[in-house]
Amino acid sequence: MTDTSRPLVAVTGLTKAFGDNHVLRGVDFAASSGTTTAVLGPSGSGKTTLLRALNVLETPDAGLVRIGDVEIDFATLPAGKKARAETSRLRAQSGMVFQSHNLFPHKTVLENVIEGPVQVQKRPVDEAVADARQLLEQVGLSEKADQHPFELSGGQQQRVGIARALALRPEVVLFDEPTSALDPELVGEVLAVIKDLASQGWTTVIVTHEIRFAEQVADQVLFIDGGVVVEHGTSAQVIGDPSEERTRQFLRRIL
Ligand code: ADP
Repeated sequence: MTDTSRPLVAVTGLTKAFGDNHVLRGVDFAASSGTTTAVLGPSGSGKTTLLRALNVLETPDAGLVRIGDVEIDFATLPAGKKARAETSRLRAQSGMVFQSHNLFPHKTVLENVIEGPVQVQKRPVDEAVADARQLLEQVGLSEKADQHPFELSGGQQQRVGIARALALRPEVVLFDEPTSALDPELVGEVLAVIKDLASQGWTTVIVTHEIRFAEQVADQVLFIDGGVVVEHGTSAQVIGDPSEERTRQFLRRIL
């Protein structure tokens, strides 16, 4: 059973370099179950790399990542089969929603949502379908179950992407700038779905440039610059009354 007295997500001393480019330089943060963490920061500061490291789409050079009961110390991760087994256990703890949804174009909305549960998790099809229908209702797309992605708007496609991530029943849902590829008039409907998830108790980590959204929804805000967490706290602290000059400069530019 998951220990509820400690944070659901804990990251310590995370580092990652691409060649000479030291993108993450010792990132620490923790997130409690049922909370929303917004990750803000200038372009190129390492936000996406951090998110991808949580899902082990990038392998950190060093540092500790724990989600629920699965923990990896990347400094001592051995190479080979054992490492692959451990990274896939950690990866299964989180579900990722990308900037662009990456839906299978030849599959229906419903088939897209059940793909992971059936193919990866080997869950029975009827159970996965029932679950998927419930998730599609949750993202407001019950009527679109039998349509194909090209028949949907960008916002609707992104909502299918969210349902698809949730279908894997991850401990944490990771959003990488989920609205940045959308036309402005479609941003609101996707943010509304994410806000709804927060109120239903999902644990989420969101990289976003939507500062007002972060201010409204996030329990915790991390401001990242140069591969470190410069400042973290409640949205009222970090956005409303930042204590670091770098945070103030960033917010002045963006707001
Ligand atoms: P952010 O999300 O804050 O804009 P990123 O994490 O995407 O920042 O990128 C941080 C830095 O890491 C950038 O300089 C980017 O070019 C570099 N980077 C990210 N992914 C890779 C990669 N796969 N290979 C090489 N460099 C990368």
